[in-house]
Amino acid sequence: MQRNVIWALKAMSVMAFGLGLHVLTGNAAAQQDSVAALVEKHRAEAIRKREHIHQNPELGNREFKTAELVAEHLTALGIEIQTGVAHTGVVGVLKGGRPGPVVAIRADMDALPVTEETVLPFKSTVRTTYLGKEVGVMHACGHDVHTAVQLGVASVLADMKADLPGTVKFIFQPAEEGPPPGEEGGADLMVREKVLEDPAPEAIFGLHALPSLEVGTVGFTIGPAMAAVDHFYIKVRGKQAHGARPEEGIDPIVMASEIVLALQTIRSRTLSPLEPSVVTVGIFRGGERFNIIPREVHLEGTVRTYNPDVRDRVEIRMKTILEGITGAYGGSFELNYDRGTPSVINNPELSREMAGYLAGAPGVDQVLELPPTMGGEDFAYFSNVIPGFFYRLGVTRPGQPSGGLHTPTMTADSESVTVGMRAMTHLVLEFLNARALQPNQ
Ligand SMILES: [Zn+2]
Ligand SMILES: [Zn+2]
Repeated sequence: MQRNVIWALKAMSVMAFGLGLHVLTGNAAAQQDSVAALVEKHRAEAIRKREHIHQNPELGNREFKTAELVAEHLTALGIEIQTGVAHTGVVGVLKGGRPGPVVAIRADMDALPVTEETVLPFKSTVRTTYLGKEVGVMHACGHDVHTAVQLGVASVLADMKADLPGTVKFIFQPAEEGPPPGEEGGADLMVREKVLEDPAPEAIFGLHALPSLEVGTVGFTIGPAMAAVDHFYIKVRGKQAHGARPEEGIDPIVMASEIVLALQTIRSRTLSPLEPSVVTVGIFRGGERFNIIPREVHLEGTVRTYNPDVRDRVEIRMKTILEGITGAYGGSFELNYDRGTPSVINNPELSREMAGYLAGAPGVDQVLELPPTMGGEDFAYFSNVIPGFFYRLGVTRPGQPSGGLHTPTMTADSESVTVGMRAMTHLVLEFLNARALQPNQ
């Protein structure tokens, strides 16, 4: 995930996009009043839990205590739960007192190997071992906020259970950032463990903290929202020689340098300029000494795309470039191209409807339409199966800057939890109400 440049479209523009605000009937207005009162009743507890989760972060597939806290919270509300889903996931099902559809909401629970450098009083000082190194652990992607918002929404909806026209499935997901090497996990595994069945939701919603938006603002994207994330590993092999006698060797540093530059031409020369894509080499590693031509260079990087055909073409072209350049020098290569999370495509029809509801959500000050980003989200595994709507939650305050996501200074203001509760509860209720009113659904 990365910071966005915002298209400055304010709430009024949302209307201009044809999303429309909804005229409240007497009942709906009464419901909104009671939701506002219930959010007020439960927000302090949700914020306390967010601070606790923030101070006690756990890495992907290791969210043992967080999952325990979630399970206890849901159980205390009388919500039926299933634990140990995709390792540490928790799924709760709240059946309303009135007939209606099933809708799911998802929050991720994992933290990152980042050493926190914020001034928050509940800052994390947790350390652990990750990939053989001692590291700090921090909720640098705001998943503490997501989890707390969803706990708060569960509290509010559980209080409204008798009037709830349908069923809400609360999915608390582990390992959104990817499981540790050699393990499975995340949304992909949850789907394989049938989290979207029995009861099967008709739609799923998720939100994500965004430090470039202020508290009170939410952002949405219709259609393609986040890119597919691939990870490639390349070994460029040559022949070791004395640095003064290149004619006796095959230089993998020269080959790899040409490869890095040629990979950039995939984007600029092979693909349409109108097709979003990124090819980034993030690791270039080789050599032991200034006067030795090494045997091997290791390159590693990421490819981000939206269009599956573009994704295929990048991989094929990458192989052709490697064959061409190493062939020309008499070297060889090994390519390991790992296809990761697919792109998040917000269902256009559902997103237009939900963005309209967001614009009318009490306590949400501003709704912005945001451009897609080349960041990734494994929410895609859910929204590839059922229609999904993934949106952004503002988390900063003027004068209290935050570092970007995944940085040691990423800082989410506690009040973002309240706004998240308001937005998500409103979406769930509007979704259920709209469908409960239609007898044929
Ligand atoms: Zn992240
Ligand atoms: Zn995240």
